[in-house]
Amino acid sequence: IVSRDSHPAGSVVKVRGLAIGGPQIQVIAGPCSVETQEQMDVAADAVAAAGCRMMRGGAFKPRTSPYAFQGLGVTGLEYFQAAARRHKLPVVTELMDIRMLDTFMEYDVDVIQIGARNMQNFDLLKEVGRVNKPIILKRGLSATISEWLMAAEYIAAGGNHNIIFCERGIRTFETAYRNVLDITAIPVLKRETHLPVIVDPSHAGGKAWMVPALAQAAIAAGADGLLVEMHPNPCDAWCDADQALNPDELKQLMVTLGAIAGAV
Ligand code: PEP
Ligand code: MN
Repeated sequence: IVSRDSHPAGSVVKVRGLAIGGPQIQVIAGPCSVETQEQMDVAADAVAAAGCRMMRGGAFKPRTSPYAFQGLGVTGLEYFQAAARRHKLPVVTELMDIRMLDTFMEYDVDVIQIGARNMQNFDLLKEVGRVNKPIILKRGLSATISEWLMAAEYIAAGGNHNIIFCERGIRTFETAYRNVLDITAIPVLKRETHLPVIVDPSHAGGKAWMVPALAQAAIAAGADGLLVEMHPNPCDAWCDADQALNPDELKQLMVTLGAIAGAV
């Protein structure tokens, strides 16, 4: 189903009227994690002020350490929706557990993110294949392109064809940055599948200063959009502080991308 052969012209995924995969680049920005109502309110203002049309924020966090902040859970979804609605920003948030899917539907999450660590959680993929919500499918930490395509096929096989691939860097021998952004994956996926492809430069580089270069490279290589971490006050972020842009840096990034893409 996800193969390019089934839609040679490419397909567009619609998120509350916004197209991902069309001529317009979509930049989804927001904090790694939902922390407080105030943090989300300020973040939503900054996302809208920068000209981004969708917002990210994690309420359920897949943390390496069980002792690290795990996300606010349902309270986080509440804060997120309250903040995003004021600017009519569609919300993008990660689902880690099948048991929370009904809650995600109740809270009217606009885009369900399947994180890198769950790319091959096949039961989770089957469940989100049964709902009528766009899915961002992140690439697994060490997943090959064909494993990633097959993971998408699990979702599509259930009837949900609204899938967006998200390259977020892969694990290699290099330790100077968090992951290696696989730019090559963009043209390869574009050839293999009709579905949109976005890039997360934040989890790829792991440092805020790397984000503009990686973001520009992604758009220049043909990505349909970006997933970028931005925090009102990065130094105070509860999660992924090093890689979060501040509101001014996000605004500047949007200006720079406009020069490349012409249509942000
Ligand atoms: C995230 O986007 O917050 C996240 C946890 O990303 P990844 O699954 O790519 O590590
Ligand atoms: Mn993060």
